[in-house]
Amino acid sequence: MFDFFRKILTSSSNNKYDFETLEGIQNIPIPKYKPLQGMASAVNNIEYILQRKATEHKKNGRMDLAIACLRKANEIFPHSNFAWTEKDYMRLVEYLKADRQFDEARKEEQKVKELFAKFDKEREENDAMINREVYGNTDIVSTNETYFVCDECAKYTKRYFSISGNSKKYPKLPEYLLHKSEEHKYCSITIYPVLDDISLPAWDYKGDFIKYCNRPFVDERTKEQKAIFEKEVKEKEEMARDKEFYDLIFEKFPEIAPKSFGGYRRMKASNSENYKKLLKKAEELLGYDFYTK
Ligand SMILES: [Zn+2]
Repeated sequence: MFDFFRKILTSSSNNKYDFETLEGIQNIPIPKYKPLQGMASAVNNIEYILQRKATEHKKNGRMDLAIACLRKANEIFPHSNFAWTEKDYMRLVEYLKADRQFDEARKEEQKVKELFAKFDKEREENDAMINREVYGNTDIVSTNETYFVCDECAKYTKRYFSISGNSKKYPKLPEYLLHKSEEHKYCSITIYPVLDDISLPAWDYKGDFIKYCNRPFVDERTKEQKAIFEKEVKEKEEMARDKEFYDLIFEKFPEIAPKSFGGYRRMKASNSENYKKLLKKAEELLGYDFYTK
């Protein structure tokens, strides 16, 4: 019985649309979704099916159809009842690059960046509104307990602060923590409003609470905690740099570029003879050494 219903459900969402022609894909309308509840997933959503179809079309060598599916998915994402990530949107950009449509890829990437800047701004405004409603005009905020921060942010974890600096009890919150910045993009320090004298801190402290919040501003992490953070940042930065290098040679010198970024990463990790040759060749063609430029 269950199988029978499942068949009806999946076939109705799959067969209603034509995923096999450019026109059919372009004509898929933007659905009106009801909010997802609890642990619901997006697997029956049309934009999810479009992403799966894109993979299929790519495998079959139909990049035009694959790209059309992802374009349509990106069009539906903002209307979805599911929070799609920047990475989901960026798949279109990666497919366009793979299809050697580099200008189009840059255009779409710009669109995604602008959209997410807008989402960030909306979220900030929404949070501020909720905070005003729940906390009134409280000036007091807490930072979280985290070791996943740079040595500057590490000085400010696990404390209550005053945003204005007018509080006699708590230190003034460093201004930079109020804004997102490139420099601290890997730091996971967050601030949230609290009701002073009512909210208990979400982390442990010793002794007098106000004294604890005013303890010396030093990095209290252990050597191991610092090392874990530094290793992770190094890996993320290396990945970004590799991607930049791979995209550059894939666009400018496809004759020497490995077929995929994954292939390039494997080659680099094994430091193979082919990898060394590739670097040497890229250096000649670019006129400089990318990794030390
Ligand atoms: Zn930081």
